[in-house]
Amino acid sequence: MTSTADTRTSIVWDYSPAPESVDHVRLRDRYGLFVDGDFRDPVDGRYVPTINPATEEPLAEIAFAGPGDVLAAVESARAAAPKWAALAPLERGKYLFRIARLIQERARELAVVETMDGGKPLRESRDVDIPLAAAHFFHYAGWADKLRYGVASREVQPLGVVGQIVPWNFPLLMAAWKLAPALACGNVAILKPAETTPLTALLLAEIAQEAELPPGVISILAGDGATGAALVRAPHIDKVAFTGSTSVGRDIQAALAGTNTPLTLELGGKSANIVFEDASLDQAVEGIVNGIFFNQGHVCCAGSRLLIQESVRDEVITKLWQRMRRLRVGDPLDKNTDVGAINSAEQLERIEALVAAGEAEGASRRTIDCELPERGYWFAPTLFTDVSPAHRIAVEEIFGPVVSVLTFRTQAEAIEKANNSRYGLAAGIWTDKGAKAFEVAGALQAGVVWQNTYNHFDPTAAFGGYKESGFGREGGAAGLRPYLRIPR
Ligand code: NAD
Repeated sequence: MTSTADTRTSIVWDYSPAPESVDHVRLRDRYGLFVDGDFRDPVDGRYVPTINPATEEPLAEIAFAGPGDVLAAVESARAAAPKWAALAPLERGKYLFRIARLIQERARELAVVETMDGGKPLRESRDVDIPLAAAHFFHYAGWADKLRYGVASREVQPLGVVGQIVPWNFPLLMAAWKLAPALACGNVAILKPAETTPLTALLLAEIAQEAELPPGVISILAGDGATGAALVRAPHIDKVAFTGSTSVGRDIQAALAGTNTPLTLELGGKSANIVFEDASLDQAVEGIVNGIFFNQGHVCCAGSRLLIQESVRDEVITKLWQRMRRLRVGDPLDKNTDVGAINSAEQLERIEALVAAGEAEGASRRTIDCELPERGYWFAPTLFTDVSPAHRIAVEEIFGPVVSVLTFRTQAEAIEKANNSRYGLAAGIWTDKGAKAFEVAGALQAGVVWQNTYNHFDPTAAFGGYKESGFGREGGAAGLRPYLRIPR
């Protein structure tokens, strides 16, 4: 509840609960592995429950693939590959259009399941994750018969069987980022969703069945790190695409060293969101909030390092803190919720450990005062000031609703501080001056730079990192290249 002292009227309203109904969701008790166009029990894997992180209640039992299951999926994919590659490109495109339309038809169900399995606010899964997943399939459906125009009019060929591994922060969206370009280019794919959020990928398997996609073109193998490691090392995988942490990315790169298997890595980040004194500060504060509290900060490109020009530091922090105190934390299925549940107990522990390190190293912590539900995993939005560039909270990816504030005096110092990171995924620039925005963007070592906005995604735009944020691009025409054999 807001105190009257900081409102402009003495009347204080609160929101009534507005929970989304879950009546239309029909989850199975158990989901097997999706191989050869159907669900099957694991041969040497096991069933593991997936839980709702907001309630700790189990949602369904999920088959985790063992090494034998991975080999069976590769065999099925290899059998399907030549036919899929030989299909007229226009026909391949039609399947992708059909998948996109079916995602739209089941959008409400997919949004609710994404929120229940991962903890993100329904407002985000409904308005961002699911529409963007459909948009990726639509976009790459359009590319299927125009591939050579995407790569400078050269004849191209698919690579074959691709192994794809995705994290838990945008489960269906990451699956769409991976599958749509791979299939449009004529490859067949084996996708491994993250252990804590397998459900929407398994519903996507149902959608593939409904779209009558030929068996083996998509396989979905849920599992943990061991499943992912087995997929990377399986024989006859023609390409690996990974999105996840830098440490696992390194492990995969080492596993593939000395092989000819092409690899793309979309890894972690510690992105700088830079506010210049000439920016519209109210607009910038909205962008800062969206940059770090969207999806509880479980965003690879989150604006977790906030760089503010010294002359407006106090004003920005005052406005930001006022705005943060109005964030609504709680039931992710409530349509008014801004910040939902932390994805897992392990992730909560990681956030708590880094926040404790921030305090121990001498930064000043402010956490909003809000009532957190008794069950589930929660972390209230937190702001750190008096942060030095060497503090762990300024260097390491927290992947939670925590923003660290640093300051700068000049444009050159802003660029130097923004680039002072082993990561290079994204950045934001807030300024009224177009020329300044272009100049700074050109000097930043970041794959994506947003001007006067943040966390905007579009299937037509390339996304990817520099330095320890990985290599390769996803999205748009650039996202075709990693999935094609292009003659020199
Ligand atoms: P993670 O690396 O622990 O896991 C990612 C996926 O890899 C999961 O499916 C996991 O089961 C699998 N995996 C784990 N160990 C493996 C191994 N040894 N071999 C193969 N696969 C293995 O990461 P996470 O905690 O799930 O996700 C958070 C990380 O992902 C953050 O660092 C975030 O920045 C990054 N991320 C990056 C992007 C991007 O586009 N750059 C997007 C989303 C998330």
